[in-house]
Amino acid sequence: MKTDPDCIFCKIVAGAIPCFKLYEDGETLAFMDINPVHDGHCLIIPKAHYPTLFVLPAEAFAAAGRTAIKVATAVNAALAPDGLNLVQSNGPGAAQSVPHFHLHVLPRRMGDGLAVNWQLKPGEHARIAETAERIRARI
Ligand code: 5GP
Ligand code: ZN
Repeated sequence: MKTDPDCIFCKIVAGAIPCFKLYEDGETLAFMDINPVHDGHCLIIPKAHYPTLFVLPAEAFAAAGRTAIKVATAVNAALAPDGLNLVQSNGPGAAQSVPHFHLHVLPRRMGDGLAVNWQLKPGEHARIAETAERIRARI
């Protein structure tokens, strides 16, 4: 499996950095975003290191897509947002900050005014952990 020792998401996959894990299978991992835009903001990654969509094998995209359906459905059931976006960014112009392919699962509220390139702001760990528990209960 492709991995990059300097990549923060590869370190999460390896267990070298902790995360609020939601789900994993052989190819993918889902965990809470540490700078959540809203409660329930989480990430889906292939376990293998592919920096962007442009180098991602179709099978890895399919595996991430399967996990995204599972986790987004759980977020929707647990938190009842007004809507939910899947966001995926490639390159600096698209505000990609971690070069390991990922899908953002972004619950939305009516009129939240979220722009596509949002600012990263640290979340409160206890609140993220509690939200993760609610989502896990629906997976
Ligand atoms: P991007 O900006 O590349 O689209 O998204 C990367 C996301 O990874 C950001 O939303 C950021 O908050 C999140 N992130 C960065 N470092 C960490 C980390 O160490 N742990 C977790 N859980 N999320 C992270
Ligand atoms: Zn990586």
